[in-house]
Amino acid sequence: MNSRRDFLQKLGISTLALHLAPVSGWANTKNHDNQAYDGPVLRVAIMGLGSYGTRVAEAMQACTKAKLVGVISGTPSKIKEWQTKYSIPEKNCYNYNNFDDIKSNPDIDAVYVITPNGLHHDQVIRVAKAGKHAICEKPMAVNAMEGQEMVDACKKANVKLLVGYRMHFEPKTLEVIRMRKAGDLGKILFFQGLCGFTIGDPTQWRLNKQLAGGGSIMDIGIYAINGARYMTGEEPVWVTAQETKTDPVKFKEGVDETIQFQFGFPSGAAASCLSTYTMNNLDRFFLNGEKGFAELQPSTGYGPIMGRTNKGELNQPVTVHQTVQMDEMAAIIFHNKQPVVPIDGEEAVKDLKIIDAIYLAAKTGKKVEIRL
Ligand code: NAD
Repeated sequence: MNSRRDFLQKLGISTLALHLAPVSGWANTKNHDNQAYDGPVLRVAIMGLGSYGTRVAEAMQACTKAKLVGVISGTPSKIKEWQTKYSIPEKNCYNYNNFDDIKSNPDIDAVYVITPNGLHHDQVIRVAKAGKHAICEKPMAVNAMEGQEMVDACKKANVKLLVGYRMHFEPKTLEVIRMRKAGDLGKILFFQGLCGFTIGDPTQWRLNKQLAGGGSIMDIGIYAINGARYMTGEEPVWVTAQETKTDPVKFKEGVDETIQFQFGFPSGAAASCLSTYTMNNLDRFFLNGEKGFAELQPSTGYGPIMGRTNKGELNQPVTVHQTVQMDEMAAIIFHNKQPVVPIDGEEAVKDLKIIDAIYLAAKTGKKVEIRL
């Protein structure tokens, strides 16, 4: 069976096998930032013990500033398994009916929502009402209106809302952003983002409009959307989009199989992107400027990310994205640290506004203005 996880794992393993050299560059994941830490530790409960929740939990074992202390799940057997594996006390275990009680649990600071997209809105709002910081997976919601309601609820409850934009902490990505900001690439002219994989099981929630909110754009195309923004450093002002569907049984009404979309930016730069659930080997960003270029391939898989610019290979260290993300999130929550590229709810609402515009452009065939 093909799944996104299998795909990303295969990609990681095959690239690792093909390019042994960068392995020596793997950051020390046990203490990845190589600094002694005696500050506060972010005590996190994970909601949704599926494939990505499992990956985050494993990566968190190497965190210095964050720790997995609780779980929220509808499956008692999974809770038991996680309790044993991660020494999670009974009092920090909840299900989807009773997790509002987390409000009176002083041993949990934040809840990381890693459930199907269509559930994020209600779950994050309940977390906020329980007075806990909310960390939410991408896409944060299934449209901008829901996303804004989540931002408002977290503001009202005076808790932080952060989104699992793990690429915002990835060293080669950050180096390209640094080079672009330093003017090394000159005036930015063009970005290309290709994101896709062949999805398997037709019964999975990713192909269910209610739970996924859409199709490939929600799941994988969002990387090209977000990437277009952090690679160019600009916000798009218009979008055009074209949808193609080869299998209307598997990809039902409202579940996009393949969408190509184009952005225009205020500077005159343009972007051309592809999001698909029916092609493998698509994980590539290309940024072109008047003085140089940057290419990342793979650009958003779990790693190792690889890339080059007109100046040569990028050789920044390879990291475990989720370990770094969780430690950085702790610093953002406790110390108000400002990441190079934001990971807050407002950042996610921008992506959701763009997704709304892409769907409208694909449906109408018209150029749609974007106001972020
Ligand atoms: P998954 O299907 O493996 O896990 C989903 C979990 O949610 C399961 O444990 C399932 O039991 C639970 N769940 C609760 N209510 C459910 C319901 N009504 N229907 C179905 N499942 C229900 O999915 P996943 O791959 O772990 O994805 C979860 C979220 O994480 C999604 O929002 C996805 O976009 C995101 N994700 C992010 C990344 C990343 O790199 N940042 C990677 C993969 C997934």
